[in-house]
Amino acid sequence: MSRQLPIAGTPEVRAAALRDLRADRGAVVGIVCVNGLAAAAGLVGPWLLGRIIDTIQAGGSDVLSRVDRLAFGALVFTIVQTTLTWWALKIGYRFGERTAARVRERFLKRTLALPPRVADHLPTGDLIARGSTDASVVAMTLRYAVPEVLVALVHALFLVVAVVILDPLLGLCGLACLIGVAAAVRWYVRRARPAYLAVAATGAELADVVASTAKGARTIELLGLEQRRAQATESAVTQARSARLGALWLRTVLFPWADVSLALPVVGVLLVGGALQANGVVSLGVVVTATVYLRQLVGPLDTLMVWIEQLQGAGASYARVEGLADIPSEEPQPTTHAGAGDRIQVSNAHYSYTDDRDVLHGIDLSVQPGERLAIVGTSGAGKSTLARLLAGLDRPHTGSVTIGGTPVADLPPDELREHVVLITQDHHVFHDTVRDNLRIARPNATDEELYAALDAVGAAWLNDLPDGLDTQIGDDTSLDGASAQQLSLARVVLADPHTLILDEATAQLDPRTARRTEQSLAAVLRGRTVIAIAHRLQTAHDADRIAVMEAGELVELGTHDELVSAGRVYGKLWKSWHAQPDENQLGP
Ligand code: ATP
Repeated sequence: MSRQLPIAGTPEVRAAALRDLRADRGAVVGIVCVNGLAAAAGLVGPWLLGRIIDTIQAGGSDVLSRVDRLAFGALVFTIVQTTLTWWALKIGYRFGERTAARVRERFLKRTLALPPRVADHLPTGDLIARGSTDASVVAMTLRYAVPEVLVALVHALFLVVAVVILDPLLGLCGLACLIGVAAAVRWYVRRARPAYLAVAATGAELADVVASTAKGARTIELLGLEQRRAQATESAVTQARSARLGALWLRTVLFPWADVSLALPVVGVLLVGGALQANGVVSLGVVVTATVYLRQLVGPLDTLMVWIEQLQGAGASYARVEGLADIPSEEPQPTTHAGAGDRIQVSNAHYSYTDDRDVLHGIDLSVQPGERLAIVGTSGAGKSTLARLLAGLDRPHTGSVTIGGTPVADLPPDELREHVVLITQDHHVFHDTVRDNLRIARPNATDEELYAALDAVGAAWLNDLPDGLDTQIGDDTSLDGASAQQLSLARVVLADPHTLILDEATAQLDPRTARRTEQSLAAVLRGRTVIAIAHRLQTAHDADRIAVMEAGELVELGTHDELVSAGRVYGKLWKSWHAQPDENQLGP
């Protein structure tokens, strides 16, 4: 199974739920009070029914008019109860909507607050499942469960108290018969949390497998890995199915057990009440009232049972949503400011993705302002990893990567992008206006600056957009690959960093798109320090210096001429390329 995000423990979930209830305490108090009144009104009907029976039994000349008055009273209180219950549910549903929104916003805020170096290593499928399926389950539960559970709880409590006050003996008899329900709930709750956590985890794992298979479909086809991916999917489906069956089995035991247990109090009170009435200890009206109360108890208890069952699933989802708070950010929020100068210094940098294996082994490198440095090396040599360290997206576990003497990864995001920006072929255009897409890089940029940035990268397509900078991208207007890359390069122009790191910015684009992007890129690179992962020897040849990497180490560093005359790794590559110029491409 792949790495999972943290899951909040029961105390954390409880604390979060209490926080959510407290945040809207007015509504919670409102639900409980209005419900209390509704439940109290509901108690009057059965009591009046008992009085009607006793009145008929007692007989008398005005029996009919007394019964009419009592029946009218029962009708009035039923209407009052219905109205108050409707009002309580209305307050409850509004509370649910507000709280659900709060939970979703909290999740989004936590996700967005994760530093890129942490976010990049999170399992995406699990994160998406938590933000969508789990958050929806929590929202749905808050919307319906909180009001309905509170209504049922208050109602059940009032009924139990009423039956005990009416006749303590009958009341205790009814309560004793409820033990079966308590036992069923206890049995279920103990098993449900792990079962529902397993359902959610296997579901997320399945989503991960399917998403990664779809994403890598071409590679899978090229390498003939279909069988292996089919097996991985099959195994994820089997695990998800067996986790679901496990949770379902718990329900198939809970509900029949609870249904039988819920009928017992009525049976017990009828038997004991019958005996007591026959011996003249209680009136027939009291027995009927107690029976009706206990019969009414089935409704709220049934609701509570259903919600207890659903709350286990929702609790697991809540634990997964809240679990995001436990993701270690790996370092305190950076607050440092860059020191003086633009010199980049890498000193004895070691880095590992997993604890057991270093992929960079003590890199030392110094890049002067305005220099053009090419990094070459075979696939897996560690070039992209070094690029991430240079861009401050990751920090070395030993050694340092600094700009002007300050660790790059310590710079706050806004300040970091004024110094160094990593350009890859992954660019993102948000479903937003062109203006807001650009202002991500500099929020206070004027329209003139935005036009100038787009002009610098040759984004002539702006003139064809119906509303210029106000055009909403994604609705009727979409950008092709090269235009989208130009938009992201215009962001770089606006951010105006002194150093650019290029990692496969154009390597996998089709030739026409690559040509347009390279032209835009050339405009962006002018006057800046450039560190480029070179996939063509010609790019390396044109650089001021070349760094050659092999198996996580920097094995050569120098100008093209120096390295060629040294005749080692780079020199041999250069020589073999001259023998076969078509093999210009480095690596895969
Ligand atoms: P390429 O030219 O193929 O992109 P590269 O020289 O850029 O290769 P890196 O991508 O930096 O090499 O990878 C260096 C090593 O780190 C490789 O062994 C790779 O398998 C490993 N690696 C890269 N990314 C991860 C990751 N996210 N988790 C674990 N290992 C990784």
